[in-house]
Formats: sequence, structure tokens, C-alpha cells
Amino acid sequence: MRAEVISIGDELTTGQRLDTNSQWISRELGVLGIPVAFHTTITDSLDDGLDAFQIAVARAEVVIVTGGLGPTADDLTREVLAAVAGEPLELVATALADVESRFANRGVAMPASNRQQAMFPRGSVPIPNPEGTAPGIEIAIPRAGGGAPARVFALPGVPGEMHSMWQATVGPALLKMLPEAGTIRFRRLKCFGAGESAIEAMLPDLIRRGRDPLVGITAHEATITLRIAARGDHDAACEEKIAPTEALIRGCLGELVYGTEDDEVEDAAIRNLAASGGSVATVEIGSLGLVAALLAQAAAREKSGCFAGGVVLPLTTVLPVAELAELRRRETGATFALAVGPVVRNSASGSGRPADAVEMVLVGPAGAVTICHTLGGAGTVRLSRLAKTALDMLRKGAARSLPGTPSGSGETS
Ligand code: AMP
Ligand code: MG
Repeated sequence: MRAEVISIGDELTTGQRLDTNSQWISRELGVLGIPVAFHTTITDSLDDGLDAFQIAVARAEVVIVTGGLGPTADDLTREVLAAVAGEPLELVATALADVESRFANRGVAMPASNRQQAMFPRGSVPIPNPEGTAPGIEIAIPRAGGGAPARVFALPGVPGEMHSMWQATVGPALLKMLPEAGTIRFRRLKCFGAGESAIEAMLPDLIRRGRDPLVGITAHEATITLRIAARGDHDAACEEKIAPTEALIRGCLGELVYGTEDDEVEDAAIRNLAASGGSVATVEIGSLGLVAALLAQAAAREKSGCFAGGVVLPLTTVLPVAELAELRRRETGATFALAVGPVVRNSASGSGRPADAVEMVLVGPAGAVTICHTLGGAGTVRLSRLAKTALDMLRKGAARSLPGTPSGSGETS
């Protein structure tokens, strides 16, 4: 069984927007063990759509489509699907009621054009969309040589909607089509503090094709995710397979593992602070207040009051970073203060130190810890990495003040 992924939209072919849906979908298909043979990106045009869909259903058993399901005149995916399947578009009353009720719930009159979103090629099945108005479309399209028809799943282009529809409907439907029956469960372990290849080298040959459970590794803005995928007859059987692999990874990586699933470093930092009854205040120079912004978001997610606020100071500030941290802690009475700033400020002459060197100081009950961080990477990634490094320092510092944790060591996730 091979798959083709089709992305639709002028914004994609003109390069105004990066097609991240194909990447996401291909990874998901890979986890299910369905190889992706083709990626096709096309404009919002009926003719291009017809060409591409005809080619796709002839050469792939599974076709996943995103985009072009909206209510506007350039949203043509449903027309293209109907034409390729040779079926008329019909109004599905339940889908119309669903679209109407979404508008009614918001107290807004439904524009006439949205009626289109309740039209489906005869023989197709609507894919529920819990987050938006446009349902997806599942349809089986006969192939020229006979045999099993191609299974086409069309989803909206909006990444968040597409992801939740995949998790709820498309992923499980594909799983049922696989020769091996059963179910699949995932566990994601989130790591910070070492690069992708360093982490891979610390694990004993876990990341290889054909292993059961399968372990995959991905990196995003200095955060490394290890994903364990286990297949089994039922959920408990999958969990039983996942547990020893998870324990092995945690044993090898220790404190590098900060959390699971969608956790960010700052979530772990806030949780450790909350568990130890502590709080943190921040002071930043040259990092756009990103450390404070991430902590404030995490505190809101964790419903915690342990972020005591952040200040952002100008580059002309002359006080050393360590002193700023001490002052901030004294002024707020927080358990910890975290300060971030360039090593060299307000000085035109080279002091021999790299201009991109950033100092981070965490002061807390056990004293001060200092990290000198050299900014690497480009643009926003540099800042994000800088902020995450500071937050990781806080995560570890707060873990050491957890009740029952000997200082200087500790599992923090
Ligand atoms: P559509 O379903 O075509 O109306 O797309 C809705 C929005 O989703 C578009 O305006 C894009 O911002 C986004 N989008 C569509 N296709 C993709 C894609 N392949 N990758 C990332 N974003 C997309
Ligand atoms: Mg579009």
C-alpha cells in the first residue's frame, strides 16, 4: 500500500506559505507504516485538480488531500472529487444542520456560501470537524485496472483542524485498512540539553526500522522528541510494550528528559516550582522578554501562581547580570530569580569575548548558578534556544529544591 499527499492552494504554489501539512501527514503515515510515494502541490484550479487527482488515484492506494474545502469560490476540492469519482454533488442534511448550528451558536447568520460545505459527492462520507465549519470528505474512487478502489481523505488546510480530524478519524480509519489488525499507541518523551545526534548516541540502538516498539527522534528549536509507537491487539497490550522502552530511555537520558507529550521546558519548570512551593521572577536584557512570556504562558496552562513577573531592561543597562538577578530576587521576594543578558553591553571595543555571548544567572535558596551561552542558529530560533536554555536552568534548579531531593542531583520529569 502506497500513499500520495496532495496539498491545494495558490498560497502554497506561489511560495507565500510553506506546505507543512504534507510534512505532518507524511510523518503520521510513516508511523502507521504506510510509505508515502508522492507529494503533489497544486493551485486552486479545477483543471490542475482534475489532472492531479486522476494521476494520484491511479498510482496510490491512499490519497490524503488538504486544502480547498472552504466556502469561497476558490475552494474546489469537493467539485474535483465529484468529477474524478464521476458522481454528482448532493446536499447532506445532517452536515447542513451541523454547519448551521455552528453559526447559530456564535449568534451569526450563516452566509449562503457556507451551504456549499454541506455538499458531498454521492457515495462519500463526511469527516467530522470538531474545530471548524468545513467537514472533510472520505471517498473510495474506482481504479482503472479494477481491484480495490483508491481511498481518498480530503481535509481542510488549517493545520490545527486537520491534525485533530486526523487523530479522531483518518488515522484510526487507515489503521483498520492495514493488514495487521489491532491498535497503535504512542508515547512522546521530551528532552532538552543535548543535540539530536548526541541523544541518539546515548541510546542503545533503539532508533531503527523494524524495532518493536518503534522509536523515532525529531528536533524542534533545540527540543528533542522521542516518539515510541507500539502496535498490539488492544491499548493495554500497547502500553505494556511501551513501558520497558520508556524506562530504558529514561534510564539512559536521566535529567535530559523533562516531560511527555506536548510539554515544553517551561511547563516542567513551572511544575517543579509549584511542587516545591517556590516562585520565580525574571529580568531580561536583549531577549525581547521571551523568558517571561514563556513562563507566563506555562503558568496559565498549569494554573499556577508561581511566576512572580518579569522585567525587560534596555541594552544600555550597566549592571552585571548576576547583580540584576540578586536585585530582582530581593525586590520580589521570589524563591528564585532568573536573569538573562549579553555578556558585553554598552561597549564599542572588543573585549576578546564573543559578541553573541549571553550570560544567564539563576539565584535561589542554594546560591547562584551561571551559564555562559553562545547564540547559534538564525533569527527566532536563536532567541527561542536562548530562552529555553534559561528555562531549563530553572527547571533543574527548582527540581533540586523539591522535598526529598538531595541537592545536586535529581530526576526532574
Ligand atoms: P483552505 O482549507 O484551503 O481554505 O486553507 C485554509 C488555510 O490553511 C490557508 O489559508 C492556509 O493558511 C492554511 N493551509 C492550507 N494548506 C496548507 C498546507 N499545506 N500547509 C500549511 N498550511 C496550509
Ligand atoms: Mg485554500
